[in-house]
Amino acid sequence: MHRQMILKEKTKMKIKIPQNIDIFGHQYKIINRDEKISGVDSFGSHFGRVNRIYIDSKLRGSVRESCFIHELIEAVNWHLQLKLSHEQITGLENGLFQIFKKL
Ligand SMILES: [Zn+2]
Repeated sequence: MHRQMILKEKTKMKIKIPQNIDIFGHQYKIINRDEKISGVDSFGSHFGRVNRIYIDSKLRGSVRESCFIHELIEAVNWHLQLKLSHEQITGLENGLFQIFKKL
């Protein structure tokens, strides 16, 4: 493969968003949520009591991937009772997203 092709592929690195994910032994479902039906106006939500992560169905590409990372950190925050603020979680989201995209 040409070097240029490899580089091109790398910059297009996608973060896989599965339908299910194990977080600390809890089987989470990742569900697309339609804002019009739910009336909820946020990119994503984490519900620890029912092991669900919702992501707005309108989100595409990098915004969707970054949102997924955000909700994973929300889950970690909830399970470990870290008491991170939403702003701190957003900071971690952006830092990790940038690292993952460059893998
Ligand atoms: Zn948040």
